[in-house]
Amino acid sequence: MITVKDLRKSFGDTEVLKGITTEIREKEVVCVIGPSGSGKSTFLRCLNMLEEITSGQVIVDGDDITDPTTDINDVRSRVGMVFQHFNLFPHKTVLENVTLAPQKVKGMAKQEADKIGKSLLEKVGLADKASAYPNSLSGGQKQRVAIARALAMNPTVMLFDEPTSALDPELVGDVLSVMKELAQEGMTMVVVTHEMGFAKEVGDRVFFIDEGVFMEEGTPAEVFDNPQHPRTQSFLSKVL
Ligand code: ADP
Ligand code: MG
Repeated sequence: MITVKDLRKSFGDTEVLKGITTEIREKEVVCVIGPSGSGKSTFLRCLNMLEEITSGQVIVDGDDITDPTTDINDVRSRVGMVFQHFNLFPHKTVLENVTLAPQKVKGMAKQEADKIGKSLLEKVGLADKASAYPNSLSGGQKQRVAIARALAMNPTVMLFDEPTSALDPELVGDVLSVMKELAQEGMTMVVVTHEMGFAKEVGDRVFFIDEGVFMEEGTPAEVFDNPQHPRTQSFLSKVL
């Protein structure tokens, strides 16, 4: 589903991603863990061209997004992204937040977009909040709206950037269970997270990134129970 070859990304003179090569298969859930500032967000943002890649190749769902002739907006519409800080439109209702992109980007009729939007709100447990405004919701509810909004574009891949990091602890579980359900339905997912329990239970593979390098990757059992690299061992000893 995603192929990454020698991906490098610099900001000015600082190389933040130092040659990442990996593959993410269809229906796979990959959890990316690593210290703050190691390049996790930059890696995700390079997968849907929110950042311009310095060198290397990224192929998403058959399209080489590093090829200048590729229609980036088309690729982006197939890659859903969920951010730490929700990024909802505050002056639009919950349902409008979910139905905006399908109408604007895909030209979907309002009636159909509303129908899909309502069923997605039901899926994330927020059917009763369709006419509410984001600022009346808890952080956990906002994040579930953000997930529904991303799903409304019917993406083939979902990217999550620390989706629960900004939430009060008691609100984390509802968001993780929506993500777990998505995983069980076969969605291909790349999840940057500090929720090691989620990574262990739901992740098919775990990537440990440090200083812009994928230091170690393996199944959750391999990475968590038997980390090979001293950096992985040191990181896990601090977070587990
Ligand atoms: P993480 O998500 O793992 O905390 P990031 O990918 O956000 O790390 O950042 C990795 C490094 O890249 C950090 O040193 C950060 O300061 C730097 N960085 C990220 N975005 C930018 C930017 N737009 N301009 C300059 N430096 C950036
Ligand atoms: Mg980050």
